[in-house]
Amino acid sequence: MSRHFEFALPDWLAGAEPDPQERYETPEDRMGLAVRLARQNVEHTLGGPFGAAVFDPAGRPVSVGVNLVLAEQCAVLHAEVVALVLAQRRLGRFDLSDGGREACSLASSTEPCMMCQGAVLWSGVRELLCGARDEDARAVGFEEGIKPGDWAARFRERGVEVTRDVLRRQAADVLREYVDRGGVIYNAH
Ligand SMILES: [Zn+2]
Repeated sequence: MSRHFEFALPDWLAGAEPDPQERYETPEDRMGLAVRLARQNVEHTLGGPFGAAVFDPAGRPVSVGVNLVLAEQCAVLHAEVVALVLAQRRLGRFDLSDGGREACSLASSTEPCMMCQGAVLWSGVRELLCGARDEDARAVGFEEGIKPGDWAARFRERGVEVTRDVLRRQAADVLREYVDRGGVIYNAH
């Protein structure tokens, strides 16, 4: 049995990483990066059409993630999980809020699935930006699991501000592009 737990971002990402000093000021700036990563994941590897990025309170990127389910044959490696894990590694703490002192944000090219919603709440990010909606994912064959209809309101109750429909059309276009190229659809069963 293996005692190691490791995965790697794809090689193409080495040339596509954002400048860690650049400030992504607006929700659209931040989502633009997540959507670009999603599109590149499709174009380079026909990987799952999802991208995500974590930003520090000043809007500087802390980490990026793309869907690695197919590349690493691991069901939990959704883009949000990858970005959150790498942010926690980089900052050296499991609580990205650092006890409530730091308001990091996560941009996700598609609204988080049931698993990623848990990962977001446990991560300590204080802001969640969503691109494509759950129904955009379902329209191309993905499904997001069991989620309460009022999940965004429940996130806000727990101190996570949620902004939806940021660059929604561009994010949904990536989902359709993936399917048009013959990408594999996988779901929770
Ligand atoms: Zn997910």
